[in-house]
Amino acid sequence: MSTSVLVINCGSSSIKYALVSDLRENRIYGIAENLNSADARIKGITFGGQPLELSIPYADHSQALETILNRLSHYKPQAIGHRVVHGGSLTKAELLTPEIIEKIREATPLAPLHNPAHLIGIEATLKLFPELPQVAVFDTAFHQTMPEHAYRYALPKFLYTEHNVRRYGFHGTSHAYVTDRASELAGDFRKGGWLCAHLGNGSSTCAVWNGESIDTSMGLTPLEGIVMGTRSGDVDPSLHSFLASNLGWDIEKIDNMLNKESGLLGLSNLSNDMRTLVEASQAGNEDATLAIEVFSYRLAKSLAALSCGLPTINGLAFTGGIGENSAYIREKTLAYLPHFSFKLDKALNNNLARGSEGRIDQGEGPQIWVIPTDEEGRIAQETRAVVDA
Ligand code: ADP
Repeated sequence: MSTSVLVINCGSSSIKYALVSDLRENRIYGIAENLNSADARIKGITFGGQPLELSIPYADHSQALETILNRLSHYKPQAIGHRVVHGGSLTKAELLTPEIIEKIREATPLAPLHNPAHLIGIEATLKLFPELPQVAVFDTAFHQTMPEHAYRYALPKFLYTEHNVRRYGFHGTSHAYVTDRASELAGDFRKGGWLCAHLGNGSSTCAVWNGESIDTSMGLTPLEGIVMGTRSGDVDPSLHSFLASNLGWDIEKIDNMLNKESGLLGLSNLSNDMRTLVEASQAGNEDATLAIEVFSYRLAKSLAALSCGLPTINGLAFTGGIGENSAYIREKTLAYLPHFSFKLDKALNNNLARGSEGRIDQGEGPQIWVIPTDEEGRIAQETRAVVDA
């Protein structure tokens, strides 16, 4: 583990970390959660795979990072890679300098929930490890190759030119890793067209041509696009004025409803967790069944729409907690894509073991792959590339 990158993903009340070696063998990883509360703790896996649980009552981001970094310092990470959700117009991973930190700050109105937390993590690690090179890897950067006709909204031009209102896209490190890996396994690295469905609590689709993102389902914020755990995805933009005029809701209430009370949770009135919904549906819960149907149909519709940007399609890759683990959702989604000649091999689909990658089509038509995502691995790889450049 002597040449390794520490990957840090700072959220508002949690910090995920992973020490990734260049050989990609055993990883040390974990999460500091419930920060700033009596319940603050670090849960993780040590080198060698032993579980770790450490209480750090009332620790803030800085204290939690110090504990994490001290525990890992004898592995001597070469660099730190920070996941940053919104990079604004930044097109690639960047070494953290005062100018880049300022650009991350400037992108805060576009990711008000994420970028401030990332900045806390960045500032704390820069103070604790001033001698280590630190790199920001942006969720948005992979999508900066989208053509203008894909990233512009049909809105007055000044909103784009003066206020940066455009589609950015997210989950870039995951879509990049998964489509690179699928094309590598298919024997045609970064060649041709791939569709990718990242299905976790947040979900998005992406179309990739010759290794570059050419369209994606998320937009200005991660709310646009397909149905997610608690996020609505696309709705009629007039919903805001409808709710304001008829129910007297203000922007904050509407925003909260669309981000936290909608999606699978809103439709099912039960849970944002796909496992719970599949079980409930099998037990006869009609709202859970409908939530699954809307999720799968809207996902298929998004993949069909994104295919417009691809001259040809080599294949489709599923990833994220749902994409990797739910044969049921994969089958349902493909059933809503009858015109694409996808030929699912049901046995391969059902037998794909959890956490493994594999091809699940019948060997004709576009390929269908399940690829466990590796955002930490990709962030470490991009961090190394920046540091070595
Ligand atoms: P995050 O976006 O927070 O990283 P994950 O990628 O871990 O989330 O995905 C979480 C989702 O994956 C949850 O909806 C969970 O129910 C779903 N999931 C995990 N395993 C299964 C499974 N076997 N069947 C269906 N859904 C699953």
